Order: sequence, then structure tokens, then C-alpha cells
Amino acid sequence: MNPLQLLVNGSRGRMGQTIIACAEQDDAVGVAAAVDEGDDFSAALAKCDAVIEFSHHTVTASVARACAEAGKILVIGTTGHTDAEVAAIREAAARVPVVFAPNFSVGVNTLFWLTRKAAEILGPGFDLEVVEMHHRLKKDAPSGTAKRLAEILAEVRDLSYAGDVRHGREGIVGERTDTEIGMHALRGGDVVGDHTVVFAAQGERVELSHKASSRETFARGAIRAAKWAREQPAGLYDMQSVLGL
Ligand code: NAD
Repeated sequence: MNPLQLLVNGSRGRMGQTIIACAEQDDAVGVAAAVDEGDDFSAALAKCDAVIEFSHHTVTASVARACAEAGKILVIGTTGHTDAEVAAIREAAARVPVVFAPNFSVGVNTLFWLTRKAAEILGPGFDLEVVEMHHRLKKDAPSGTAKRLAEILAEVRDLSYAGDVRHGREGIVGERTDTEIGMHALRGGDVVGDHTVVFAAQGERVELSHKASSRETFARGAIRAAKWAREQPAGLYDMQSVLGL
């Protein structure tokens, strides 16, 4: 099979640069185009089989529409989308394969799986808190990964992200309720991405943690997702689908 030709969108960013470096070491893919703000996306799109999009949430909807129109595979790592932007991604997925994941690392996807299992086993007697830490330049909070962890907890407990997640605490906030899911975003230094889910009950506490020390784990996962999507029909997929979890 010919190498899968990639368009890397957000190519001058931290993730874009790492994806290009990892793609150069992988014989199954080539970098047909590297696009950043101000470059001609449409001209570059014609040269590729798949777009890997790690730029800014305001950019993704137009990238998704262009991929749907041109029949290109789309892998989205960008986080922080509004509901309207997610709707545009869903529309594109009706026409082409789209892998949309807040985190492409195998370890974090294992954490997603473990979090669901732990919430099911431990039950409603445990208070739930999610803590994340990222480098000081990260623009959105909480991270897409932390949001997904809270969504998983909410699904298991029959709660909702919008209604039951409590972002930070300040002042006389009163006692914690049984149903709130606490969410805390730390920022500083060059931290690539740490996530911990805390399950706390009377007399015991379980903590599930993942710590990324290199962006290569996300980059390799995104390239793996693009290769996997080559064999898939149109649809919206996540990294759990890619890994068969
Ligand atoms: P970054 O700020 O280093 O890079 C973003 C790049 O996008 C910049 O070079 C910027 O110029 C470019 N950009 C802005 N507007 C553009 C446009 N219109 N067209 C093309 N490029 C444009 O950020 P980063 O650390 O590389 O992260 C990028 C995104 O990926 C963020 O949303 C981040 O949260 C997310 N991320 C996801 C994962 C994952 O596994 N899913 C992992 C790490 C980061």
C-alpha cells in the first residue's frame, strides 16, 4: 500500500512539529503538506489523503467542512470546541471517517477505560474529583482529557457534565454534595499533561493517574489513528475505537 499522505494543520505548533518529526520516522506515512495560519489550506488539501488537525478550536469546523467536501480522512486532536463546532465535526463525519479524541495516548485511553471500571465497581459512596496539570502556555481549561474523564464519571453515575461538574472552589462554598464532580485545572512550567481521577470515601481513597512526559505519545497515536481510519467507512470515531477498547 502507498504511504498515507498527511496534511498537518497547525504545523508550526508544539504538536504539529512533533507530528511531522514522528511521521518522518514512519514508512507508512508521508507529510504531503504542512499548513499553519496564513497558508493556503485548500491547495494543500488536494495533495493529501488525510488531515491531522492540531491547531485552535475556532479553526476545526472549516477544516472539517473542507475534508467532507474533498473526501479526506480527518484526525482531530484540537480541544476546547463549542457545541456548534462539535456539531460541524459530526456533520463532516457523516461523509468521511473522522477520529476525534481529546487525547491520543495509549496510556490515557487506558485511563479512560480504568476510570469507567473503577466508577462502576466503587459505586455512589465515593466522591469524585478530577485534577489536571498542563504547561503555562495551554489556552483552554479544563483540558479536553479532563472533560472526557468527567463525562465518563457522569455517564456511570447518571449525572451530567453541564449540571454536575463543579469547576474549582472558592470562599464559603458549603459542604460537598454527593453528586458533584470536582474539576481542578493547574497550570505551570512545561508540564506536558498530568491527569488524576480521585475516588474518595470514608476510610479510603483510590487515585488513578497518568503523566505524559513527551508529546510523541500523542503524535504517534494521531498517526496511528489516520492509518486506521484509512480502512473505515465514514463515521465519528475516537481513540478507544482505534485501540479496540
Ligand atoms: P500550539 O499553540 O503550540 O500550536 C497551535 C498551532 O496552530 C500554532 O502554530 C498556530 O499558529 C496554528 N494555527 C492557528 N490558527 C491556525 C489556522 N487558522 N490554520 C492553521 N494553523 C493555525 O498548540 P499545541 O500545544 O500544538 O496544541 C494544539 C491543540 O492540540 C490544542 O487544542 C491542544 O489542547 C491540543 N492537544 C491535543 C492533544 C491530543 O492528544 N488530542 C495533545 C496535545 C495537545
